[in-house]
Amino acid sequence: MEKFFPGKTYFVEPPLDKDTAQLAKGYDVAVLFVNDRADAPVVEALANAGIKLIALRCAGFDRVDLQACAAHGIRVVRVPTYSPESVAEHAVALIFALNRHLTDAYIRVRMGNYSLSGLVGMEMRHKVVGVVGTGAIGAQAARILKGIGCKVYAYDIKPNPAVEAMGIKYLALDELLAISDIVTLHCPLLPSTRHLINRESIQKMKKGAMLINVSRGGLIESAALFDALESGQIGALGLDVYENEGGLFFVDHTKFDPSVRMQNWDRQFRTLLSYPQVLVTPHSAFLTEEALNNICTTTIQNIADYTLGKPLPNEVKAQPSPAPAPAGKA
Ligand code: NAD
Repeated sequence: MEKFFPGKTYFVEPPLDKDTAQLAKGYDVAVLFVNDRADAPVVEALANAGIKLIALRCAGFDRVDLQACAAHGIRVVRVPTYSPESVAEHAVALIFALNRHLTDAYIRVRMGNYSLSGLVGMEMRHKVVGVVGTGAIGAQAARILKGIGCKVYAYDIKPNPAVEAMGIKYLALDELLAISDIVTLHCPLLPSTRHLINRESIQKMKKGAMLINVSRGGLIESAALFDALESGQIGALGLDVYENEGGLFFVDHTKFDPSVRMQNWDRQFRTLLSYPQVLVTPHSAFLTEEALNNICTTTIQNIADYTLGKPLPNEVKAQPSPAPAPAGKA
């Protein structure tokens, strides 16, 4: 590290915004985590401070305005795969915990209540699981679920040969939603995937199905979940991510005075948490020793590559805007 970074490093605890971006003055690289928002005004502030590289310590780059970065000559690197197994294993952990009511059982036993009512689960073997998005993480989830005897089906805009080689069939999304006892989401958050699961698609799901999202909160229209949970259309919901998690997750809000806590109170999120069939973890699916080591090594390598003027294999770039349609065509 010394070899590549003879200069200074400075750790800033609060999340990135227009104000904290000023702290980057005098530095070349800003190292961001998953909920730091680098929208156009923040990117401009970073550029004014002299930042030339944004190094993301995560895979998803949905909170970085890549067009704005390109306009300011800031390059962006990420850690594309640090442990797909960790994230996939967490999705499966949520499935098991929800299916066997582990959190309820834990609380009951702690309280001295050993009754079994409401704790009935289902045998996982032969249950139909739909994996939506079969890249690095989805493929691992498919492997584990197939290994425990589930009938796994997949949906992706680009089928993965490694998943097909497991004997897993790709279906249209509607078809997959209609037959799945469990649907688990593993695609990135893009304009095309925002609210992929919405009021309409929830109605296409098998009644009582379990829905798991360890990918990005914006894949699900949160407001559509309430009716679905209350009617039993969604039987169980496991989330590691939430649409408006920025500013909420990765912070211990209990240390704040209630008046301060109220400023960040998310009524929608709190309501979701109150449902007995909902289990939420705080964006911790990635959090294993292996993943942390890989994130650290790749981030340092990304910065070293940039510093030494080498090619950046983990660079992400703005997609060129589609050409305007010829006159007379939609
Ligand atoms: P990946 O790029 O390897 O795979 C993404 C897959 O989604 C690809 O196969 C792609 O074709 C597919 N896809 C793209 N658009 C789609 C669409 N419209 N419909 C269906 N599929 C579509 O990414 P990955 O490494 O598997 O990660 C997936 C996502 O998981 C990341 O984008 C990130 O948001 C999330 N993630 C979450 C955590 C966590 O801790 N909760 C950790 C890492 C990654």
